[in-house]
Amino acid sequence: MFERIERVPGDAILGLIEAFKQDPNPEKVDLGVGVYRDAHGETPVLASVKKAEARLLESERTKSYIGSHGDPEYGRAILSLVLGADSPVLADDRASVTQSPGGTGALRLAADFIRSQLPNSSIWLSNPTWPNHTGIFEAAGISMERYPYVSDDNRLDFEAMRDCLERIPEGDVVLLHACCHNPSGFDLNHEQWQEVLNIVKRRRLLPLIDFAYQGFGDGLEADAHGARLLADNLDEAIITSSCSKNFGLYRERTGALIMIARDSEQMQNVRSQIAITARENYSNPPAHGAAVVREILSDATLRAEWEEEVTGMRDRINSLRHDFVEALAPHGLSDRFAFIREQRGMFSYTGLSPQQVDRLRDEFAIYMVRSGRANVAGLSADRLDYVARAIASVVD
Ligand code: PMP
Repeated sequence: MFERIERVPGDAILGLIEAFKQDPNPEKVDLGVGVYRDAHGETPVLASVKKAEARLLESERTKSYIGSHGDPEYGRAILSLVLGADSPVLADDRASVTQSPGGTGALRLAADFIRSQLPNSSIWLSNPTWPNHTGIFEAAGISMERYPYVSDDNRLDFEAMRDCLERIPEGDVVLLHACCHNPSGFDLNHEQWQEVLNIVKRRRLLPLIDFAYQGFGDGLEADAHGARLLADNLDEAIITSSCSKNFGLYRERTGALIMIARDSEQMQNVRSQIAITARENYSNPPAHGAAVVREILSDATLRAEWEEEVTGMRDRINSLRHDFVEALAPHGLSDRFAFIREQRGMFSYTGLSPQQVDRLRDEFAIYMVRSGRANVAGLSADRLDYVARAIASVVD
């Protein structure tokens, strides 16, 4: 029966990783893959994580199942990290949290919930968005629509986004990036979040807020502004949180699905459905990463150390953004690329065309996705001039 199975092309990013590895050019720069890199080009285990793991090695007593919703202590810690320790939503007991295999696992739970419990709802994704959003919602069998987000001249097109949101049918789901929009790096400001809240409320839409980069934009609290504004002021919302980036736990698959309902009673109903969805997908979530996060967030010293490490990652990205625009100045390009300083998170839409991206790879061994998305964390101080020179020679 397998004779008829067609081979499909692999993930474009995986191809890019392979091509980068094979490239013998000593000057090569990898701006493709979506993980944080330190000044040495590495993605190390955080020191706070190492310490938490050492403690767990001593204190862990069982490998028995943890249940479909995962570790309740981890759940409480994530709720207060995401919604804020003094959140009115928590005071009203109307938020349910479910530990998930990464942010991706949380998105899939949300998708399956929408498909089975809100079968008439379509989901609206920003154009562009993280390509896996499309894959996840398609796999769950949900009909997908797009709202504009980035204009042809590579800036946030909020007017077009707002006009589109105004026309979305009541009851549909809108996926919003809480911060550090992937792939563009363009985020909403406070006023724009307020406008989104007004529209979502008036038009009775259900927001699904993908929060994969808390702490990578302007700070752990600042990055939560949009998610909290919506959670505090709407009866219903869905938030997917990921510990992959801010705890550097990528391969431990650690995330959470937060379901916010009008009251505690309705929240418990929704929660019971999520437990079934989780059970049917993978039964119980992996435990280790969440145990690490729980250890860190529940210990004042470890937590302070972790917060400093997050600040270190964020500051590195934001100063690279700044320094990169400076490095473009001698080529007369600092105005043209000034937006790189305003973008947030690891990714930047550079506005470079697929042809220009190809030339960067072929002529300079600089690798990025053909959409022109660059991982800023792939830069380093000693490569800025090289990359700036290369860009200057491929743009008109
Ligand atoms: N959402 C967005 C926008 C992302 O960029 C990512 C990671 N690339 C995720 C969700 C999921 O991350 P993970 O499953 O690794 O936690």
